[in-house]
Amino acid sequence: MEYHSILEKQIRKILTGNFQENAELTQLLDTISKSYHAFDRDKKLADHAFVISEKEYQKVNTDLQDQIDIRKASIIKLKEAIRALDPTEANRFDDKDEDLINIISFLEEQIKKSKQLEAELILAKETAEKASRAKSEFLSIMSHEIRTPLNAIIGTNNLLHYQDPLPSQKELLNVMKISSENLLSLINDVLDYGKLEEGKIILAERDINLKQFVKNLRAAHRLRAEERGNNLRLMYDEDIPDFVIGDDIRLGQILNNLISNAIKFTKKGVITVEVLLNNISEEHVLVDFAIIDTGIGISEDKQEMIFDRFTQANTNITREYGGSGLGLTIIKLLLQLQNSEIHLKSEAGKGSKFFFTLSFKKSTTSLQEENKKTLNFEAPNLNNIHILLVEDVDFNVMVAEKMLQNWNATVEIANNGEIAVEKVQNNQYDIVLMDLQMPVMDGYTATKKIREFNKTVPIIALTASITMDIQGRAFEFGMNDCITKPFNPNDLFSIILKYSNLGL
Ligand code: ADP
Repeated sequence: MEYHSILEKQIRKILTGNFQENAELTQLLDTISKSYHAFDRDKKLADHAFVISEKEYQKVNTDLQDQIDIRKASIIKLKEAIRALDPTEANRFDDKDEDLINIISFLEEQIKKSKQLEAELILAKETAEKASRAKSEFLSIMSHEIRTPLNAIIGTNNLLHYQDPLPSQKELLNVMKISSENLLSLINDVLDYGKLEEGKIILAERDINLKQFVKNLRAAHRLRAEERGNNLRLMYDEDIPDFVIGDDIRLGQILNNLISNAIKFTKKGVITVEVLLNNISEEHVLVDFAIIDTGIGISEDKQEMIFDRFTQANTNITREYGGSGLGLTIIKLLLQLQNSEIHLKSEAGKGSKFFFTLSFKKSTTSLQEENKKTLNFEAPNLNNIHILLVEDVDFNVMVAEKMLQNWNATVEIANNGEIAVEKVQNNQYDIVLMDLQMPVMDGYTATKKIREFNKTVPIIALTASITMDIQGRAFEFGMNDCITKPFNPNDLFSIILKYSNLGL
């Protein structure tokens, strides 16, 4: 056999002769040679193992270093974020301080603080909501309180007009009429704004003779326009159908406000009310409205803000012209409700143009039919109509009673709901006019009780304002319709006609 190289050398140096014949010696030499080979193999293996663990050690080392770097970078970033969040906390962490625990306790504090803030905000929101509800309630109570005597003033004024006053008295009565109506419109503005904000306005759908409607508007404003040396012109597009369906009261509110503003801010100029047909489709009539004046105009920087509530282009002007700064806000909201928008083009010193487009439903009513009705219309007469008026405020009773008696109706009065229930139980009425807020028993409860034994007598709610809430509640309790106070004599008359089988 071949011996290990080192053994081979030794054999050559030491052993002479024919040592291979000595069996014991050759066996010893074989064993030594195997030991040498085994030693070599073990050494090789040990060397290899060392190289491998050295490599692994280096890899682990660099990984660890990378992790330390990432940790350091994260801590720096965390500190930067904390400083950006709260500069007052900047000194709390010096740059050498890498203590994560410090940062975590800071974050815990922040979380606690923000939870506390959140709780405070929820409380503040609840308080604000309560305040807002209190504001709405206050407004609705106050408006009712103010409207009640105002109703009496406007109603008395209407009655005095019926009694052929002297020309000099007529003039004074007119001043009273205009002032009280202005006051009423201001109260209505404040209330409307509240209702619009809460989304409580409902739009009516009535036939409107648009031409007559805008002509009436012009007639109502002509005097005031002339007083300020203004020429109030109307440009009406004859292609517009005779009748369209929409909410005449809200349209009147929008146009009245814009025309009043145009007159208010124009002296010795021209105000043009333009009503033009934009388009007629199968179901709708689209009409463009514009109110153009040659007055003081509005500078460009003020043009957006005048649509915000309680804002006016110039505070000096306010004192000269008066106004609440609510008109345009209400117009904006009323148009939004009808999917429309108010636009303005104006230049300071040159005048303004406010314009918008409204979509009306098509109407089947024609002018000929309406004329026929008017020809057949006789002087107001409610002969043989027996009315129960349920109202607690004496002035209101007086005004409504006189109005109804002027039309020859028979009127009985109940000062509260309880008396009304008793009267309906013992008498036959053609119609019941029912105030809603009364002492002893309110109008809702009285109606509910009446409906327990009489399902047919028409009951009309008398209310200061018709909101969705009020109308919904009135119907729920069994009333047939609503009418607003102070009554417009025509509205009161037509609602009585409608429900007393005398309807035209
Ligand atoms: P009010 O007229 O009650 O102050 P509005 O909301 O109707 O409230 O109008 C807000 C402001 O917009 C007015 O105070 C006025 O400064 C300006 N403004 C409105 N209409 C005109 C107009 N036709 N010409 C000039 N300024 C106007």
